[in-house]
Amino acid sequence: MKILLVFAHPEPRSLNGALRDVAIQELEAQGHEVRVTDLYAEGWKSEVDRADFPALAPEARLRPAAASGEAFAAGALTADVRAEQEKLLWADVLILQFPLWWYSMPAILKGWVDRVYAYGFAYGVGEHSDSHWGDRFGEGTLAGKRAMLIVTTGGWEEHYATRGVNGPIEDLLFPINHGILYYPGYDVLPPFVAYRVDRFDAAGFESAAEHLRERMRTLATTPPIPYRRQNGGDYLIPSLQLRSGLGDPGATGFALHLNGEGAAG
Ligand code: FAD
Repeated sequence: MKILLVFAHPEPRSLNGALRDVAIQELEAQGHEVRVTDLYAEGWKSEVDRADFPALAPEARLRPAAASGEAFAAGALTADVRAEQEKLLWADVLILQFPLWWYSMPAILKGWVDRVYAYGFAYGVGEHSDSHWGDRFGEGTLAGKRAMLIVTTGGWEEHYATRGVNGPIEDLLFPINHGILYYPGYDVLPPFVAYRVDRFDAAGFESAAEHLRERMRTLATTPPIPYRRQNGGDYLIPSLQLRSGLGDPGATGFALHLNGEGAAG
């Protein structure tokens, strides 16, 4: 398979850097072709601003979604963004790797999403009608491909368990897994999470590395998180409410959007 790994850590000698090398080595040993976008090393511009839309008239008001759609349709997005879009179309599997910072991804990676996921490419795709609300959440430009996260946390695994003070890791990562990866069509694999890493010793590292190698060996066969498809009949359109009678009656929030027993976690 073809794999794109988008790496968001400022220090190549970090734990994340070492885990990235483990992942790449295992993927290549399995015969996969790997490309890496190293955001800090490449000096990725993380903010969306006028410079992203060179064709926009200086006096025109900047409306980011509209400007993005016009530039995408005209092939006028900046070269760095077009190069990343080409990599996404090339890859069978997308891996986003980052340390958990403030319950989320580092800003540079969020900025990669904001800029690369153009209107017409990752959103604003497909028909909007009374029976179909855009090609998204299981459909879209990147449908048929797989994606997963590699994440490290300072917090302990217990801190991210069902009753842990941080909230369940599935909930924290839902905005990325569901809102960023599933949205444009990816089948999203359960994340690889290495917990309590700030005090990692050699044994802790080797154990995490072995688990990561195993996840890289099973990329093609690991069942995806069973998110519900937006246009598959589970949701009313256009209100996009889950139909009554579906889901555990006691469930609220993110868990409602899982279809049955799942591999989320
Ligand atoms: P590093 O600092 O590079 O390394 C961590 C440890 O691994 C070091 O002790 C290092 O010696 C050791 N190590 C063992 N083997 C190796 C090897 N082969 N190579 C390299 N290092 C090795 N945590 C949370 O849980 N929730 C949060 O919301 C959160 N927010 C944060 C916000 C910010 C701004 C910051 C800076 C940190 C935050 N953290 C949070 C903690 C953060 O998630 C961890 O510090 C991070 O995941 C550690 O990854 P690293 O690659 O930076 O590790």
